[in-house]
Amino acid sequence: MSFEALNLNELLVRALSAAGYTEPTSVQAEAIPPALACRDLMVSSRTGSGKTASFMLPALMRVLAARDKAAAERKAAPPVEAAPERAERPDRGPRGFGARNPGFQGGKPSGPRVLVLAPTRELALQVAKAASDYGRYVPGLRVATVVGGVPYGAQLAALRGPLDILIATPGRLIDHLGSGKCRLDQIEMLVLDEADRMLDMGFIDDIRLITEATPAQRQTVMYSATFSGNVGRLAQDLLRDPQRIEA
Ligand code: AMP
Repeated sequence: MSFEALNLNELLVRALSAAGYTEPTSVQAEAIPPALACRDLMVSSRTGSGKTASFMLPALMRVLAARDKAAAERKAAPPVEAAPERAERPDRGPRGFGARNPGFQGGKPSGPRVLVLAPTRELALQVAKAASDYGRYVPGLRVATVVGGVPYGAQLAALRGPLDILIATPGRLIDHLGSGKCRLDQIEMLVLDEADRMLDMGFIDDIRLITEATPAQRQTVMYSATFSGNVGRLAQDLLRDPQRIEA
C-alpha cells in the first residue's frame, strides 16, 4: 500500500517522501482511513510502530481542510478593508488581519482545532516534532507545545495567537485553562496518546476537565497499551461508537 492510496494531501505525501518513508506501517494503514472518516478510535500499538503519524496525518488533514474552507469563504466574501469599528475592537486584532489570516474566525483568533495530550514532556516534544516534520509543507502551520518545566511566558504568547495544533501534558494545560489563557472551544479532534500512562500518572481528573472544555461533537482517538480497567471506563465515557484497532 502507498500513502497516496490513503487519500492524504499531496503536501503530506511530499513530507513523508522527504522523511524517506515509502509505505505506511500497519497502524497507519489501519488507523488513518477511519480517522479521516472522523471515527472515534481505540488504538493499541507499540512505540516505534509509527503510531504518531497515524494520528498526526489525519490531524494535519483537518488543518488543510480548514485552510481550504477559509480560502473559499474569503473568495466568496472579499474582506472589507479599513472598516474603522473593526480596528477599534480589541478582540478583532489589527485592521484587516481577520479577513486575510486563515486562523482568524468570526473576529477572534482561532483556537486550536487539534489537541494532543501526552503523559510526559519528552513525549509531547516528540509529537510536536512529528507535527512539524509531517506538516513541513503546510503553509503557515501553527503548532504550540505546553509542557511543565518551562517558563509560562513563551507558552502564553503561543496560546494567545491563532493556533492549529496544541500538544500538551495535562497538568500544565490545566494551569493555562484555569487562568483563562487557553480556549479549547474549537477543538475538532482530541488525541489521548499513551492514555494508560496518563492514568498511571494520576491525570484522570485533569483529562476529564480538559475534555469537558472541548466541544462534545469532537472526534476523539485514544492510544493505549490496554483498554481494561480505568482506561476502558474513560474510553467508554469519551468515545462514541469507537473502532478498535490493534496493530
Ligand atoms: P512512533 O511509533 O510514532 O514513535 O514512530 C517510530 C519511528 O518510525 C519514528 O522515528 C518515525 O519517524 C518512524 N516512522 C513513522 N512512520 C514511518 C513509515 N511509514 N515508514 C518508516 N518509518 C516511519
